[in-house]
Amino acid sequence: MLRKLKHDEEGVAVLVADRKLSDVDGIEFLKQASSIFEDAKLAVLTTFEGRDEIIETMKEFRLDDYLVKQCQPPDQSLYPVFDDLVADWESRPAIENLKVIGSRFSPEAHQIRDFLARNCVPFEWLDVDRDQEARRLLGPSGSKSSQLPAVVFPNGTKLTQPTNAEIAKQIGLKVHPEGDFYDLLIIGGGPSGLAASVYGASEGLRTLMVERHAPGGQAGLSSMIENYLGFPAGLSGADLARRAVAQARKFEVEIVSPQVVESLRVEGSTPIVTLSDGSELRSHVILLATGVQWRRLDVPGIDRLVGAGVYYGGTLAEAFFCRNEDIYIVGGANSAGQAAVYFSRYARTVTMLVRGESLDESMSRYLIDQIKNTSNITVLVRTTVVEVHGKERLEAITIFNANTNKKETLRTNALFIFIGALPHTEWLKDVVNRDDHGFILTGPDLSQGNGNGHWPKGWQLNRDPYWLESSQPGIFVAGDVRHGSVKRVAACIGEGATAVQFIHQYLESTER
Ligand SMILES: Cc1cc2nc3c(=O)[nH]c(=O)nc-3n(C[C@H](O)[C@H](O)[C@H](O)COP(=O)(O)OP(=O)(O)OC[C@H]3O[C@@H](n4cnc5c(N)ncnc54)[C@H](O)[C@@H]3O)c2cc1C
Repeated sequence: MLRKLKHDEEGVAVLVADRKLSDVDGIEFLKQASSIFEDAKLAVLTTFEGRDEIIETMKEFRLDDYLVKQCQPPDQSLYPVFDDLVADWESRPAIENLKVIGSRFSPEAHQIRDFLARNCVPFEWLDVDRDQEARRLLGPSGSKSSQLPAVVFPNGTKLTQPTNAEIAKQIGLKVHPEGDFYDLLIIGGGPSGLAASVYGASEGLRTLMVERHAPGGQAGLSSMIENYLGFPAGLSGADLARRAVAQARKFEVEIVSPQVVESLRVEGSTPIVTLSDGSELRSHVILLATGVQWRRLDVPGIDRLVGAGVYYGGTLAEAFFCRNEDIYIVGGANSAGQAAVYFSRYARTVTMLVRGESLDESMSRYLIDQIKNTSNITVLVRTTVVEVHGKERLEAITIFNANTNKKETLRTNALFIFIGALPHTEWLKDVVNRDDHGFILTGPDLSQGNGNGHWPKGWQLNRDPYWLESSQPGIFVAGDVRHGSVKRVAACIGEGATAVQFIHQYLESTER
């Protein structure tokens, strides 16, 4: 029946099976059915006593949800689950037939793939050296390197070497704000910025969120967030971002992306930001939610290979290329662990290179267990990368094992690096107080930050700074960029929401 539907090019949104079907195991049925309809949402029907078993199953098989029989009352226990699954399925991006043409190891092509993947835009990758279709679309002179990479849009428009902003315009993203004055201007569209935008706009603030790459931030790079409350089956960062963006749009948050805030200054009590296109925006309040970015690995030869086999962060768009390859992941924290599990589904082998004694020091137990149970993942502890090799693309890496005191050179096309992150707040140094690593100080930390137990220099208000307020009244901070923040999705969302509470107090106190 399902094969016939597939053959007839029909869609299937949700597959639901009773855990104990009369002739086949319900989970087995879902496994087979989902190999026919890969994007269908999967749910299983179980008894109250059977819930624990289903939760165990979720650890190794993608189940989107489960229903407890008799699903009573249906308006609480049946319809909302179905509505959510169907809405989730329906929200797959509508853009089809977008093609990206280039060379696999071109950093520019990687940047385009990464941009599209982060924005959840499906695309077909055509390798100019392998696919005839690529040469046909490019025409006789099109495969010259000066014409690559190229993007062909569904309406036939072809752009060569496009910027992210040019692609964004073609796929209908908004890259310029409508107004020039807002109640709340949020810089950064990760979980903190998204949460603040939803709370701000839903509570009546005219809210703009400016995001450099794609809403979702670092969380959008996560293949599976398993510790976010309320999602026992886990949810991908892309799914979280998509849901949050839909919620923000519902409350009429204006989202501008990709767009960069280049500078911030304060005139009187009004913050003014300058965007990368030179335009200026004013706002009653600013929320800095700019997160952190990956630290660079400092080994000879690495910089020229970034995007050409060396990748910072779990750029999920590269998974497709890792099929049957031997790949390496540097880092021993949760983000590296998630990436290892994700890439193990594609790569022949995944080797984690961990500087510490073991993963126990830095990784959550659930991920350590998953890694142990994945046969094609190997963990090498007390091991570091000391050199990378290749002229135009990564060809090999040299690693050093501190246990054996030996170096070894290994052939590979892909090295993914997850070695901690730092805030890039240099551009804010004259506006807000920061700690020695560049994290922004807020609330009670400000008095310790200047070392004398008093409020920061220039603080003229007759009150303490609010908890999430910076040394500049009216400029608030949330999430990973904040000094002392807990680097977790849930904590960031909590801070984004809490910041709005203080923003209201600030606005009331300034009698606008
Ligand atoms: C691969 C990976 C997996 C993870 N998995 C988990 C997990 O399973 N569970 C968990 O709890 N946490 C996880 N984390 C951590 C979690 O994602 C972060 O703590 C969280 O995303 C931080 O949110 P944020 O909004 O503070 O910052 P970010 O997510 O870093 O977002 C900041 C945003 O600001 C934008 N930005 C920066 N500067 C500017 C500017 N000048 N102009 C415009 N935009 C700007 C950036 O482009 C970015 O999108 C993971 C992180 C990674 C990288």
